[in-house]
Amino acid sequence: MERSPEPGRQQRGAGRLTWRKATLVEARQETATARTLVFDVPDWPGHLAGQHVDVRLTAPDGYTAQRSYSIASATGVEITVQRLDDGEVSPYLTDVFDIAQLIELRGPIGGWFVWRPSDPAPVQLIAGGSGVVPLMAMIRARAASGAKTPFKLLYSARTPEDVIYADELRRRARDDGGLDVQYIHTRVRGRRVGVADVHTHAWPKEFEPSIYVCGPTGFVETVADILVALGHDARKIKTERYG
Ligand SMILES: Cc1cc2nc3c(=O)[nH]c(=O)nc-3n(C[C@H](O)[C@H](O)[C@H](O)COP(=O)(O)OP(=O)(O)OC[C@H]3O[C@@H](n4cnc5c(N)ncnc54)[C@H](O)[C@@H]3O)c2cc1C
Repeated sequence: MERSPEPGRQQRGAGRLTWRKATLVEARQETATARTLVFDVPDWPGHLAGQHVDVRLTAPDGYTAQRSYSIASATGVEITVQRLDDGEVSPYLTDVFDIAQLIELRGPIGGWFVWRPSDPAPVQLIAGGSGVVPLMAMIRARAASGAKTPFKLLYSARTPEDVIYADELRRRARDDGGLDVQYIHTRVRGRRVGVADVHTHAWPKEFEPSIYVCGPTGFVETVADILVALGHDARKIKTERYG
């Protein structure tokens, strides 16, 4: 019997780049500006935590717009979209797109910014804003796999009200001694994530953690510089920039 390919790693030509029709089956408001969309995607091949999909919208006149969204779920296809008031696509997905409507998506995409439950190294996740989405997929994949790998999440959000997945993170951290969650609220404390935050809340370099940093470009660059300054091996730091 042939072994099926690892989820998210598709056979050549099998169509990672094929656009699939996806139906919205559930939507959850996570914060005032962030909404989770749950899709039914026939023949979804599975994915690894950290991968993303491309989403394509087509207007009646044929105009198309395409954006990338991280997969939030461990299984099935869920994305969480943060509305940018002056954006083109995100306000449509958070405010207009409705249950039973169709969209096109392709993926899973990305083979580097991924976490596999077989990786024994302790994991440090550092999120800025909606950059928490692929990191949440890693937290969910860890729980789903039963892995005991110690995880820490350092999550920078403007205010407590801007924290995506707040209830789930609280519940998971309460019930699971292997998961630590710390927040930095930039609007409350009036400053950006700094050396002291990372030094205090992240695994020290001696633990040789696998590190995943995701968020806006400036956030990711700042945090990566801090990690290197604190002595972390640059090869262990994986970053994803949302632009
Ligand atoms: C790998 C990856 C994963 C991602 N995952 C997520 C995710 O999980 N959740 C999520 O919410 N987002 C995610 N993003 C970001 C997402 O792809 C979109 O960029 C985001 O939703 C904004 O799209 P938009 O069409 O609403 O905004 P856009 O219309 O693209 O505008 C984005 C911003 O750029 C500004 N802008 C637009 N055009 C110009 C211009 N010409 N000059 C200057 N400024 C301009 C706008 O004012 C706006 O603030 C991800 C991005 C990448 C690359």
